[in-house]
Amino acid sequence: MPDPLVIPCPHCNGLNRIPAERLGDSPKCGRCKGEVILDKPFDLTQGDYPSQIKGDLPLLVDVWAEWCGPCKSFAPIFEQAAGQLIGRCRLAKLDSEANQPLAGQLGIRSIPSLILFRNGREVARQSGAFPLPQLLAWLGSQGI
Ligand SMILES: [Zn+2]
Repeated sequence: MPDPLVIPCPHCNGLNRIPAERLGDSPKCGRCKGEVILDKPFDLTQGDYPSQIKGDLPLLVDVWAEWCGPCKSFAPIFEQAAGQLIGRCRLAKLDSEANQPLAGQLGIRSIPSLILFRNGREVARQSGAFPLPQLLAWLGSQGI
């Protein structure tokens, strides 16, 4: 992995350069002073998407909808995963109803869907909710 890492801010989409050894020190965004590395998922929107899939940390997106029962039961698992993956992977949630054009562009056929992006490109995808150990194992198989 490159050092310093280029990481988009989850609040303002500003790009930050953060030395690898500082990832665990709650680094602040140079533009908005918000926390760049979160221990929970952030909300991804259509407008954020092009900026957020970039950078040196992979981005895992949970595509969900308010009416989807399995999405709701998966939400706490996804949150727990965010706490365990600090500094290794960034986690975001995409509301497929509020962002229909993007969900269409991503070819979402069923939810929940998980899409892993690395360096601005989709590298892996899974649909359906699964337990935390399985989620972490899947990410492990992707080198995370
Ligand atoms: Zn910011």
